[in-house]
Amino acid sequence: LKDEVNRMDRLSLVGQMAASITHEIRNPMAVIRGFVQLLNERSPDDQQSYFRIVIDELDRANAIINDFLSLAQNRIVEKEASNLNELMNELLPLLWADANLRGQIIDMRLGEEMDLLHMNSKEMKQLVLNLARNGMEAMNDKGTLRLETLNMANTIQLRVTDNGVGIAPEKLEKLFEPFYTTKTNGTGLGLALCLSIVERHNGKIHVESEPGRGTSFIVSFCKPGRNCW
Ligand code: ADP
Ligand code: MG
Repeated sequence: LKDEVNRMDRLSLVGQMAASITHEIRNPMAVIRGFVQLLNERSPDDQQSYFRIVIDELDRANAIINDFLSLAQNRIVEKEASNLNELMNELLPLLWADANLRGQIIDMRLGEEMDLLHMNSKEMKQLVLNLARNGMEAMNDKGTLRLETLNMANTIQLRVTDNGVGIAPEKLEKLFEPFYTTKTNGTGLGLALCLSIVERHNGKIHVESEPGRGTSFIVSFCKPGRNCW
């Protein structure tokens, strides 16, 4: 009976996810269809802006499909004992380039004598990049994104802090829901994916934010062999 219930749970979860993704992909598709139809009828000047919209919407549909696939698959990931600092250093050029394009600054502060963590580095990179991109997108061109690693007693912490728009307290609980987004080109899947990655790495994630001041995402990973929660 227990197996049967689990199976039903999984089936209804798959059904719910299929319904959401169908809905999310239909929006850009409807926009694309409308503008392609208009392209037929309009002047070359109008056509150029319509092409832009069509391409943006195709990119959005593509981003939704990619994020959704990462969320749905790879439930069993291979892990290796690795140093979080090394991974941060590997990501630095990428982060720096991204921030530079926006006129922003990266301030990386790595903790000392870090214990190794069992991690899947592909997933862990995806986690850091998603949190960093959200931080950058929340800031203007005077923003500084701080990325910190800290060696605590039982955990290793990763903190991603921006001095951007911040998040209203009543919105905090919505952040990790799939498809919750306040961005015109957002997928709303970034933080849902982050949460599932953190859970697969024996971690916890929480948010501290002050509207108008900025936001910190704090991820704590339990060190191997410790009892954290
Ligand atoms: P997306 O970035 O595609 O909108 P996410 O799941 O990554 O989806 O984020 C969901 C929402 O959470 C964002 O649309 C935004 O409103 C809010 N959010 C996430 N990170 C931050 C941040 N650092 N500062 C302000 N708001 C944020
Ligand atoms: Mg995002």
